[in-house]
Amino acid sequence: MSTFKNASHNPSRISPVKNKNVPTWSSAQSEELYGFKRWGGGHFGVEDDGTVSVQPLADGTSIRIMDVIDEAVSMGLKAPLVIRFQDLLRHRVTQLNELFRKAIKDEGYEGEYRGVFPIKVNQLREVVEEIVSASDGYDYGLEAGSKPELMIALAMHEGANSLIICNGYKDHDYIRIALLGRKLGKKIIIVVEQLTEVDDIIRVAAEVGVDPLIGFRAKLQTRGEGKWSSSSGDNAKFGLNTAEILFACEKLRKAKLTSALKLVHFHIGSQVPNILTIKNAVIEASRFYCQLAKMGFPMGYLDVGGGLGIDYDGSRTNYESSMNYTMAEYARDVVANVRDICDSMNVPVPNLVSESGRAVVAPHSMLVVEVFERINKRETLGVQHQPKVKHKVVTDLETLLRNKHKLGRLERFHDATQKKEEAFSLFNLGYLDLENRAAAESIFWQVCEQIAQETRNAGYVPEELRELNKLLADQYVCNFSVFQSLLDHWALKQLFPIAPLHRLKEHPSVNATLVDITCDSDGKIGTFIDLQDTKDYLQLHPLNGKPYYLGVFLTGAYQDIMGDLHNLFGRVNEVHVFLENDEPNGYYIEETLSGVRMSEVIEGVQYQWEELCRRIKSQIDTATKKDLVKPREGVRLLEFYESQMMAKTYLNIEQPVVTKTKKTRAQSRG
Ligand SMILES: *Cc1c(COP(=O)(O)O)cnc(C)c1O
Repeated sequence: MSTFKNASHNPSRISPVKNKNVPTWSSAQSEELYGFKRWGGGHFGVEDDGTVSVQPLADGTSIRIMDVIDEAVSMGLKAPLVIRFQDLLRHRVTQLNELFRKAIKDEGYEGEYRGVFPIKVNQLREVVEEIVSASDGYDYGLEAGSKPELMIALAMHEGANSLIICNGYKDHDYIRIALLGRKLGKKIIIVVEQLTEVDDIIRVAAEVGVDPLIGFRAKLQTRGEGKWSSSSGDNAKFGLNTAEILFACEKLRKAKLTSALKLVHFHIGSQVPNILTIKNAVIEASRFYCQLAKMGFPMGYLDVGGGLGIDYDGSRTNYESSMNYTMAEYARDVVANVRDICDSMNVPVPNLVSESGRAVVAPHSMLVVEVFERINKRETLGVQHQPKVKHKVVTDLETLLRNKHKLGRLERFHDATQKKEEAFSLFNLGYLDLENRAAAESIFWQVCEQIAQETRNAGYVPEELRELNKLLADQYVCNFSVFQSLLDHWALKQLFPIAPLHRLKEHPSVNATLVDITCDSDGKIGTFIDLQDTKDYLQLHPLNGKPYYLGVFLTGAYQDIMGDLHNLFGRVNEVHVFLENDEPNGYYIEETLSGVRMSEVIEGVQYQWEELCRRIKSQIDTATKKDLVKPREGVRLLEFYESQMMAKTYLNIEQPVVTKTKKTRAQSRG
């Protein structure tokens, strides 16, 4: 009996871990493996029953995420599902404001914190409403970067002391909308990003007869770092350079609007990983502020923009997915550096504004995806197919697998690779049949698996062999679209923490990468967070025929709105969860948003779904006339097509059908 056959009849030979000596495993080990405590900010953990829980207020009161999923499913809202923890959102607003208050108190700072939430980071009404409501007592305001965002900000904004900051490119209507806010008595500051905007503001303000409040966005020399660093420096799209700031001052003087200038603003990019960058930017901007104050402008606010990070990988480093500081340190550094510069220049300290978006909203929402299939190179390839006549290339590979000659790992890997290439060439030239090709591929993977197993406990592992684990990893197919729900992973290679939401007491024995259901080879996740650098695969559980859910965490910033319609999948289902002690599981779902239906995405690209149904009807009629379809069947086919128009776009994963019920199911489906 050949080794090949042995291997095929004894899968444990391929991966002994799976069947024998299943390692014991605990919730605590899972908590460590997936890093919940490192990136979770005290909000995420693993319960003793092996499921993930969230503590929206980080106070010990927790919600089991599987409870939420089960309830959502019972309401017809299957994964892919976005879950928003509204209390966690509130908590972040409170935390940011409290930490600035504390820093201000500790440093004896004589100004106040007047932060604003940049709407572009998550425009969803429920998110903005929650933030506005959480701002009560903090004078926390809103930031807009476009006309539609300003329309929202103006209407949603509350409070006489909280600000509305107007950034972005502006036409006259933008300025008119902002000045409408001034008429309503709002503290709404128009930030000049281009020199010409000064003339526009002067003109429109005269036209509507309102005193504007104006800020200047300074182009700092201090460059951001990480993926978003192009928001600053000489080539930035926005902001005034030093000469332009002086021109702008002259224009205001000439227009007798000196008293309008209130604020200096900068934004050096999102997710700034290094606190030193922030300190430098704050120092540079404080100098601008003080110089303008000394020139006789009233001033009053320094706006440090966004950039406050999220530690997506929990490493507390200046790696781009991380940050080497805390929110508390950020607040202290802003406060202390502004104070030091102002003191040194004898200028009264400003009120402080930050436009922290990512840091406020990222943690509150997560994406739940369901794995429904495993693509496995080794077990599907040719195991059952024994070539009738074995080609030499196959027997050569078998020899390698048996390793009679006691070759080293690297040498065996090279030899096996060579044989595999040879097999493909032979196939192309017509010298290898399908069965021999299948056998060659299969044995090649077995050799790789064997080498990988030996490598696992070895000390130094050469680069080529380290890649092996990545090559050997399975692919778990998940019912979602990267382009809709995790756009930044595709566009910017941004990493999000990902972990199973249950079965965390079981040993995760499968190395896997994730792929989505779009027909796009980029629709995948093959890089994962790790303490050191990144990982090429995730350790997951073998599929067992029951739903297997993964959570993608910290997705509340930017992902919701930037998703696109690749393959017309569109928006996913969504539930909004609130803590509630009186409820059985400690929470209730206040709001549900249904993911898009096929008719909706189809209309989004200019078809009319009724028209498509009419076309299908006429084709069915024709087919009926030609007797390709029986009339009764034709009616059913049309009904099915029409009902699918109202169905959701994502896969409708049905659990494996038990033989007994198979018939009725098939019938009911028509
Ligand atoms: C995007 C943006 C922000 C938000 O940045 P975060 O890093 O998400 O806090 C703030 N201000 C301006 C001007 C922006 O463009």
